[in-house]
Amino acid sequence: MKKIPPKGLSETELFAEMNALRKDDLNWRDGRNFAYVYYPGEEILNVVKKAYQLFFSENALNPSAFPSLRNMENDVVSMSAHLFGGNNETVGSLTTGGTESILMTVKTAREWGKKNKKLTANPEIIIPATAHPAFFKAAHYFNLSIVLCPTEKDFRVDAQKMENLISKNTVLLVASAPSYPQGVVDPIQAIGQIAEKHDLLFHVDACIGGFMLPFLKQLDYKIPAFDFSVKGVTSISADIHKYGYAAKGASVILYKNSALRKHQFYTYTAWTGGIYASPTMTGTRPGGSIAAAYAALKFVGYDGYLKLAKSCMNTTQKLQNAIREIPEIDILTTPEATLFAITSNSLDIYEVGDEMGILGWQIDRQQMPPSLHFSINPAHEKVIDQTIEDLKIAVQKAKKLSLNKLGKNVQLQAIKTMQRMLPKPLFEKIKKLASKHSDVGGKRSAAMYGMIGELQGKGDLDDMIKDFLDKMMK
Ligand SMILES: *Cc1c(COP(=O)(O)O)cnc(C)c1O
Repeated sequence: MKKIPPKGLSETELFAEMNALRKDDLNWRDGRNFAYVYYPGEEILNVVKKAYQLFFSENALNPSAFPSLRNMENDVVSMSAHLFGGNNETVGSLTTGGTESILMTVKTAREWGKKNKKLTANPEIIIPATAHPAFFKAAHYFNLSIVLCPTEKDFRVDAQKMENLISKNTVLLVASAPSYPQGVVDPIQAIGQIAEKHDLLFHVDACIGGFMLPFLKQLDYKIPAFDFSVKGVTSISADIHKYGYAAKGASVILYKNSALRKHQFYTYTAWTGGIYASPTMTGTRPGGSIAAAYAALKFVGYDGYLKLAKSCMNTTQKLQNAIREIPEIDILTTPEATLFAITSNSLDIYEVGDEMGILGWQIDRQQMPPSLHFSINPAHEKVIDQTIEDLKIAVQKAKKLSLNKLGKNVQLQAIKTMQRMLPKPLFEKIKKLASKHSDVGGKRSAAMYGMIGELQGKGDLDDMIKDFLDKMMK
């Protein structure tokens, strides 16, 4: 076990150690990642950092202790409500991220259902098959049932099919603007009508798109209406720590009115420590991330967001145009914004991901169908030509590799595919283990063949991943 050092390190020693820890981290400043970090440049980053530091110790747990935080939170909510077509009735909260915003909207729907419908069973929420796992997490935590609506060929849900799934226990419909994996916006308008007709709540998950779509629309890109301007929409989530460029730990959850938001709040009035009231999941709420969200919106400004959105969209189109020229790979469906996925009919797209990895690009693997994910951020503008060159090389290499692999055991392929779905850190862990059992080594995931013996008889995939996660967090 590790011990707290008996005698504290010097600042120099400490930072030398921590900087050494970073050596294998994603290189987001150079745009080598296509997820996780959204980098708007040093100027904005430094201002947001300064704001975070200024409120580093403050705690938004009690809204009367720090009026500064309360005012900033209210302003961030209000600016967001304005951006998303809200009015004077629109209210909301700042949360730590998209997941917490979604947890809150699902909990709100449960409480709303309790009050407004005489439910005989678990309340149900109808979500597109492409919706974020945070909805499953919320249903799991709060004991609701998920009704999954399969998506169409274009990865958008069909509103009519969603309507057919409504039962007397339904409380909430969900749509994405856009979905994360394929970057497409569900038919919000049509679903809004259905929500109204059946007197249901309707949440639009604009976690990734919230601080991108309105600016693209303003720039005359074809963006469908997705916000409170659409009749039937009762709540929206939008992450300021993604395309809002705030510090991690900032998302807004907005509701159509106060009556709805009250279902989100939690109170306990019989505590010996006094009356306890809390708007969201967390108790102590870091002032830093509230201040950083406020600073990002105020410092970047509407003009700044337009400029950054334009840069992201230009880069997206450049990359997509280049991909259309590469016969072996295709863009999945017709994404509206700055997220999309690529797939292939003729080669193993995961091999392309491996080859891109060897060339220093970190690209996430997706499934059903096998695909690679791209979320474009402003850091990509200056490296996109290189991305395109390397993608061409990676496709050529993957073509050769795919031929070599023909005839290999189908079961091995299946396990290999499963393993490729693991997040990078887990994947790296397996690779290290694999190198003990295999002479393949190197950066290719083929090394993982060696792990197969190790994994056999270890239960299902969920258990296997929980086991890895458990080991990783020790
Ligand atoms: C990122 C994302 C979420 C979850 O947000 P976190 O900040 O990672 O908790 C939910 N929905 C969509 C569409 C997202 O892109």
